[in-house]
Formats: sequence, structure tokens, C-alpha cells
Amino acid sequence: MSWQFEAIGRVESPYKEKFAIPRQPGLAAHAKGRVVLLPPYDVADAVRGLEGFSHIWLSFIFHATAEQGWRPTVRPPKLGGNARVGVFATRSTFRPNPIGLSVVRLLGVDIRKGVALEIEGMDLLDGTPIIDIKPYLPFVDSQPGASMGFAPEPVAFLQVMFHPQAEPALQAASCRYPDLVGLIRDVLAQDPRPGYADDPERVYGMQLYDLNIRWRCVAGVAEVLAVEQTQA
Ligand code: SAM
Repeated sequence: MSWQFEAIGRVESPYKEKFAIPRQPGLAAHAKGRVVLLPPYDVADAVRGLEGFSHIWLSFIFHATAEQGWRPTVRPPKLGGNARVGVFATRSTFRPNPIGLSVVRLLGVDIRKGVALEIEGMDLLDGTPIIDIKPYLPFVDSQPGASMGFAPEPVAFLQVMFHPQAEPALQAASCRYPDLVGLIRDVLAQDPRPGYADDPERVYGMQLYDLNIRWRCVAGVAEVLAVEQTQA
């Protein structure tokens, strides 16, 4: 049995590369972006009534990793990257059908020119193709008593600080991106380092918007060293 789907929309996100994107939605409340619907789905009728919902489900394609295929077992970061579990016991991007599912806050529905949904808290790469949108229904979708297997609730791991030398560029960039400081804090608090590698000498780079954020981690503190404009 096979079906063919096409994208009904495309995500505009501050996350321009996979590195440092939170592993699930809702972990970085300052991540704001849009889902822009594509023709012929970009009509106001298709979203009539959606503005009454605070959250929506986005079904999407893991387009940046889809070509890498899948394996029956994967090594989730939650288990330190060592133990293997079945792909269907995880939210791994490497799936037989590379489909992801994220619940995000819906801030608004803009129908002035085509249709754009203003969203917050996504875990999605810029350009992610959306294949479906549904309203989140707390009375069925929220299961407060659910058990979480090997994936307990995430905690914010790192404290986040800004080196004084990064401040001028940070302030200048914040004029263009008012959520920038909050977004950097949200993302670094989750400790995006691979396998929690602990090398205080290592300086990491992560791309948010059109900025390269350079940071290091020493004794549980992520320190932002520089905020640089990326080349166009
Ligand atoms: N919430 C979704 C789910 O459960 O299906 C996604 C979970 S997946 C573990 C989240 C990770 O997917 C992010 O940290 C990012 O590295 C990666 N990701 C986000 N958008 C992607 C895309 N379009 N293609 C490939 N990987 C993507």
C-alpha cells in the first residue's frame, strides 16, 4: 500500500540548521515563526475557525534527513547515545516514513495575503514541509497520567550567561529580533551539545535567524562569546 502526499505549507523558523534545535516542541517558547500555506491551500476558507484554538498539531516531513533512510533501532540522546531502542519507541527523524508531529502554540492566523499561521515553540528547521494541520484538543490529546518509558520530562540543564564582549552585537541584533535573548537562553539551557560532551575549550557555533552564535560550556554554564552576522 502506498500513498503520495504533497506539502500544504512551509515553515519559516529561526532555526537554520539542525544543530541546537530543541528535541521537542514547547521547550523554547521564544522560538517564533510561521507556517505559510502553499497554493492551492492558501485560502482563508481552509483555516476558517482555526483562530479559536490556542494550539495546533503540525504533521511534517523530516526533509533534511529523509534521504538517509531508516534503521530498526536507533540510539536516542536521552540514553546518552549508547543504548539502542526500536525506532517506533522513539521520535527519531530516521523513520521508514520520515513524518514528524509537533504541537505548537498558535498565536494568530493572517489571511491578508495568502494564509500564514503565526506559531511559537516549534522544534522545526526553516523550510520544513508541512503535510497537515489539525487543532489540538486538550480533552483527548492531553493524557496527564501517561507513562514516559525511557524518556522522562526534560529539565533545563545549563545556566546561560552572556560575555560582556558579546553584548553590543547582541543588543544590535535584538533590535531586529526582539526574542533573540530569550531564544538563545531557551536553546542553550537544553544543552544542545552532542552526547553532553564536556570540553570547556571547545567553542560551538549555532545559527539562529541570520546570526552565528558562538558559545562554550564551562562547569554547567553556557557562555555566549559572540553574536556574528552570517554571510548572505
Ligand atoms: N516533535 C517531532 C516529533 O516528535 O515527531 C520532532 C521530534 S525530532 C526528535 C526533533 C528534531 O528533529 C529537532 O531537534 C531537529 O534536530 C530535527 N528536525 C527538525 N526539523 C527537521 C527537518 N525538517 N528535517 C530533519 N530534521 C529536522
